[in-house]
Amino acid sequence: MSRTTTVPGLANLVGGEQVESRSGARRAVVDPSTGEPFTDAPDSTREDVERAVAAARLAAGSWSQTTPAQRAEVLLRLADLVTDLREPLVADDSRNAGKPIGTVGDEVDAGADSLRYFAGAARVLEGKAAGEYLPGYTSMLRREPVGVVGQIAPWNYPVMMALWKIGPALAGGNTVVLKPAPATPVSTLRLAAAAAELLPPGVLNVVAGGDEVGAALVEHPDVDMVSLTGSVATGKAIARTAADTLKRVHLELGGKAPVVVFDDADVSAAAAAIVGGGFWNAGQDCTAATRVLVTPALHDELVAAVVRGAEELVVGDPSAPGTTLGPLISAAQRERVTGLIGRRAPRAEVVTGGHPVDRPGFYFEPTVVTGLEQGDELVQEEIFGPVVTVQRVADESEAVRAANATPYGLVASVWTRDVARAMRMSKALQFGTVWVNDHFPVTPEMPFGGFKQSGYGKDLSTYALEEYTLLKHVMVSHG
Ligand code: NAD
Repeated sequence: MSRTTTVPGLANLVGGEQVESRSGARRAVVDPSTGEPFTDAPDSTREDVERAVAAARLAAGSWSQTTPAQRAEVLLRLADLVTDLREPLVADDSRNAGKPIGTVGDEVDAGADSLRYFAGAARVLEGKAAGEYLPGYTSMLRREPVGVVGQIAPWNYPVMMALWKIGPALAGGNTVVLKPAPATPVSTLRLAAAAAELLPPGVLNVVAGGDEVGAALVEHPDVDMVSLTGSVATGKAIARTAADTLKRVHLELGGKAPVVVFDDADVSAAAAAIVGGGFWNAGQDCTAATRVLVTPALHDELVAAVVRGAEELVVGDPSAPGTTLGPLISAAQRERVTGLIGRRAPRAEVVTGGHPVDRPGFYFEPTVVTGLEQGDELVQEEIFGPVVTVQRVADESEAVRAANATPYGLVASVWTRDVARAMRMSKALQFGTVWVNDHFPVTPEMPFGGFKQSGYGKDLSTYALEEYTLLKHVMVSHG
């Protein structure tokens, strides 16, 4: 299959127009399965952010006055557009992020579905009843748009993360300046080009570029809120910078998901979920089922099943339909994973994998490491690679302690047939999502977001929509 075509027309979207960056600079976009550039995209600067924010501010005047039904109509049309563009968007994210082609359709569909959800949610916001809470006064609540929202996306789910962000922001009556990750602008810019035909000018602006473009959005005094999906380090930098203008901050950061497997669990289901959820997207997933905590009786059986599953993965060209494990996003990411494995304690055993794959691109073998202890770097650090770690835990209380003892708190799963234990564990685990006897599914009706250093703010659900609104109390005196 030819891998040399370029993607035409990658431009920023500002005020309804597809435009080059003001400087004219372009940034190469690399295919991680070859390590070679395959196209380029605008390399924007602060000046481009200025123009995009001005366009978003201008558009906020009328967009904020639309009815929920009008916004819902636009979001539904945007969802249809995404569905119409499914095939090219799948091809974009497969090539640009190295995702096995057979896995990307679900991401595009989930993104479109989240838009449909927020179209509906815009029309059903609930609140406290208006009433006379003090004699002689009527109180009521209004939910109003925050204003101009800067949205900063990561590279691991380029189009899905963009859509998760756009949906609640537009549903809430805000206008958006969105910045895709520097490594993966392609699908977002394709989407922006198509959306230009549909959205009122300036309601959605997309500015591609490096970290400094994100920083310019965070610093901008006319941006009212910033939403990031990215690393903990970036989240902290953004929170610090945002303090200068006291803008609202919404942070979806990293994860280090424990998968707690008790002796009474269905071991083959747990192993399948660990293989499916630990190596999905080459482990570059904030919810990756990466940190297995297993009680003694099941340890060896579970490890054997996970190793078998890992070894059955098909490492290869992401555009080939049979591929199940693609490359990491960059050479730097692969070096990071290689370094983490290389620095492991002597007691830790690499049962399978452990090395870069000897082929072009940024591939790393599916890897399972056992014999780990809680303080180990492999247990504490988000790896963001195809690596599953396994620790033994003696019992329920040790499982809780170990599961909670990292700085992260995004998602966790617990595997048991004992309902009482499942309920105790769901309460004790300090994570924004706890799955029982599964690991991975997400639905737009339910909130998604972390505890602790996995950030604050929720994506999806009416909770996300509320975060993209301001709550106003109106109090009318009858006197
Ligand atoms: P990253 O933090 O390096 O970059 C994310 C985005 O932030 C990029 O667009 C980048 O250009 C921008 N950015 C970087 N520095 C900035 C700054 N100082 N100011 C403003 N913007 C800045 O993250 P990444 O490597 O692209 O993505 C991987 C990370 O994202 C992982 O930690 C992963 O766990 C996390 N993630 C979290 C979720 C979630 O929902 N919690 C989902 C996907 C990914």
